[in-house]
Amino acid sequence: MASEQLFDLSDGHRRIQQVAREVAAAVDPFAAEADECPGVHERTAAVLRESGLARQVVPAAHGGESETLDPLSIAVVREALMYSSAHLDSLFGMQGVGSYSLSVGGAEDLKAEWLPKVAALEAIAGLALTEPDVGSDLRAITTTIERRGGDLVVRGRKSFITNGGAASFYCVLGKEDDGYSMVLVPASSAGLKTERGADIIAPHILGELTFDDVVVPEANRLGEPGKAFSLMLQTLAVFRVTVAGSGVGLGQAAVDEATAHATTRTQFGRPLLELGAVGQNIASSWADVESARAMTYRAASLARTDPLSHLDYSSIAKVVATEAAGRAADRAVQSMGRFGLVRGSKIERLYRNARPLRVYEGATEVLLDSLARRLGKEAAKKQAGKQVS
Ligand SMILES: Cc1cc2nc3c(=O)[nH]c(=O)nc-3n(C[C@H](O)[C@H](O)[C@H](O)COP(=O)(O)OP(=O)(O)OC[C@H]3O[C@@H](n4cnc5c(N)ncnc54)[C@H](O)[C@@H]3O)c2cc1C
Repeated sequence: MASEQLFDLSDGHRRIQQVAREVAAAVDPFAAEADECPGVHERTAAVLRESGLARQVVPAAHGGESETLDPLSIAVVREALMYSSAHLDSLFGMQGVGSYSLSVGGAEDLKAEWLPKVAALEAIAGLALTEPDVGSDLRAITTTIERRGGDLVVRGRKSFITNGGAASFYCVLGKEDDGYSMVLVPASSAGLKTERGADIIAPHILGELTFDDVVVPEANRLGEPGKAFSLMLQTLAVFRVTVAGSGVGLGQAAVDEATAHATTRTQFGRPLLELGAVGQNIASSWADVESARAMTYRAASLARTDPLSHLDYSSIAKVVATEAAGRAADRAVQSMGRFGLVRGSKIERLYRNARPLRVYEGATEVLLDSLARRLGKEAAKKQAGKQVS
């Protein structure tokens, strides 16, 4: 049951939601297979491509849907897709996360070359920030970008890159002089080696990338030299809240699985749902998921007009929704007893797929840390105001 009665979606958002639900329903019969796939699951990609949904993550000027991206539409789509399949959600979401630096910081010719293909799912996008020794602390990266004549030379290694090995291009973060820059590297570039990445508990297309003096033209630069953190911030401001959408979708699926089981299985002469703790567990998850959905839609709605100045709310939504998804999946397994532990069952898949949501695109603790710093700044401002008056 997904009530969504706590937030009034517009007719346009409901239409997009309906399309996304149809895509999710079409993929559902083979979602388990898709979610185990370490590469692109072609049948899933074909359904997504056919739907045209990837147009939501590209600006209209380059083959997308709306003039500027709409975080609420993207969040609503991710909620619907994640309800069925993490692979489907990732294929959709990464088209935006991987290409947004290009949308906001690329030269016109570069955008014209790639973005229409991203919107049509004919080119797959990747964003390469993380390195073997660097995760949350991105200022410690060691990959370099160096000017040589009219070219840029990229040298270094990137790790745990979604779509690594499957992508058509990567937006790569590197150090340049005293700053950080970003550059688009086509997957076909000489000197770029991709290897299959780690097998994780929730299978994902992951690759390890080595840039061995990869040369690209200066025209592949994204944004201003030395100002890549501004591009990344803009990407997070639009897409962080959409991961919250994925969390809501997964949490809802866990509530529905647990409810279906607890209403049909009887113990002690009654359905499990009526055995105090089981009903309370599932109801707690329902409360968590509804709260997360309300927060996610509201934060995404705020991000529609001014994503950067509402990033704190996007971070709160991401924390609330992904932590809620984790709790809902865990409680669902508990409510289903041994049946929740069976390999290959839907709830087992949800339990595993919930886990990475709390780590990528800002681990919960990293986001809470930045929110705490914001509280500190606001408190200091208030103190300063009191002293003046
Ligand atoms: C499925 C998946 C897909 C991914 N896809 C991509 C991708 O496409 N591109 C890419 O560049 N990267 C990708 N990553 C990497 C991801 O961005 C990193 O895992 C993430 O940034 C965290 O870095 P880390 O894993 O090295 O953890 P670390 O930075 O080592 O942190 C470990 C833990 O320490 C805590 N912690 C860290 N910093 C702080 C802090 N400041 N305050 C308090 N606690 C803290 C958090 O709990 C964190 O989980 C992906 C990861 C996964 C799991």
